[in-house]
Amino acid sequence: MEAIFSIDSYIGKGIALYSLQAIRYLLFAGAAWLLFYRIYKSQWLHKKIQERFPKPKAVLTEIKYSFLSLVIFSFTGIGVYWATEMGWTQVYPEAGQYGWLYYGVSIILCIVLHDTYFYWTHRLMHVKWIFPYVHKVHHYSHNPSPWAAFSFHPLEAIIEAGILPLIVLIMPVHISALLIFLLYMTAMNVMGHLGFELFPKGFVRHWLGGWYNTSTHHNMHHRFTKCNYGLYFNLWDRVMGTNHAKYHETFENVASKEREKAAEVTPSPVRSE
Ligand SMILES: [Zn+2]
Ligand SMILES: [Zn+2]
Repeated sequence: MEAIFSIDSYIGKGIALYSLQAIRYLLFAGAAWLLFYRIYKSQWLHKKIQERFPKPKAVLTEIKYSFLSLVIFSFTGIGVYWATEMGWTQVYPEAGQYGWLYYGVSIILCIVLHDTYFYWTHRLMHVKWIFPYVHKVHHYSHNPSPWAAFSFHPLEAIIEAGILPLIVLIMPVHISALLIFLLYMTAMNVMGHLGFELFPKGFVRHWLGGWYNTSTHHNMHHRFTKCNYGLYFNLWDRVMGTNHAKYHETFENVASKEREKAAEVTPSPVRSE
């Protein structure tokens, strides 16, 4: 029992967890930033969702709040670790313990559960009297960059981190399945804030593709605020009628642009920081 309550060991684990998350953030957001905003900027210009680029000051704010959020996420991770040591979670030790089919299903369950959790907590954070105290920081970015992936007020970071204890309390899950889910979450989060549309034209009208959210979808949430609340799937926004009326049109406008014609495209009057 001594090891469980050793503060030193928890500080060490907390620092390790923070470092790993910082590396994950820098790798995903950094790679996206380098590829789309630096090295191949001109090649991708025609796929930019909003014509303008965010100002350096706005990007620095996104980075600052993201690194702050990682502190909250580290505390959550340590809390889950401690609760697992105490035998309170359903985290199981052997990856094949429940069969490999369940292992795969558990990752999908994490994603589906998170999608629902995100939509409804997101709707809650948009309630008029909650928004300024919890979610306003994330909406500082009207024209987000990949660095906005974790740009949350600490109170929002607590809500966002809440999915982790929820998962480990309600379903059996292996730590590696959780890690795969968290990597997927990070990749999709960076994609949502990328500022460029990567999916091909017709994607949102495809019978299957239309159920998956695009970068344009979340970009429009940052631009117009009261629409497009969903994360991975275009399910809850459809059920609740919260997709922006011009979501499909905006997506098709960006997705159908060709590189050669990019210079001829007349800039639309879009808002930027
Ligand atoms: Zn929002
Ligand atoms: Zn966002």
